[in-house]
Amino acid sequence: MTSAGRTATNSEATGSATLTASMGTRQDSGGDECPFCLIAAGRTDTEVLLSDDELLCFCDVKPGVAHHYLVVTAMHIDSCKALRREHVALVERMVAMGRSVLEKNKVNMNDVSRMGFHLPPFTSVPHLHLHALSPASTMCVKSQLRYGPRSHWFITVISILLSGFSHPLVAK
Ligand SMILES: [Zn+2]
Ligand SMILES: [Zn+2]
Repeated sequence: MTSAGRTATNSEATGSATLTASMGTRQDSGGDECPFCLIAAGRTDTEVLLSDDELLCFCDVKPGVAHHYLVVTAMHIDSCKALRREHVALVERMVAMGRSVLEKNKVNMNDVSRMGFHLPPFTSVPHLHLHALSPASTMCVKSQLRYGPRSHWFITVISILLSGFSHPLVAK
């Protein structure tokens, strides 16, 4: 595995041409600067709540509601803009892990939960991560801006799956 194709962390803000080049190659480090790669590599003291061969889950450091978890890929993927049709199953597994962690933490599943991705350049960390939040009804105004239904930066899994990954904001 080489670092070829891996670009500066701000690449997602400047264009997606290089993203596909980096897809599918396991980035063992994702660069020392990528905090989620460090967590995936077990090099932080972040408590990993759930994990399997390809995904892991931990608490968001700045929770927007009482329950706010992140599901990330162990492999470095820059953002949801790099997702293609072949990633549908991966996204579904991310959602399944998001549901599992909510259930494990005794979240009332009758409360509305929100799951989704931030669009570059509004990603706080340029490593693919699914936000799982609940209960959505208690989001403050600031959280609504970041994760709410009217946020232009937050696209839900439903919309991304329904679009077949041809969401106008996702496709280049
Ligand atoms: Zn990373
Ligand atoms: Zn985010």
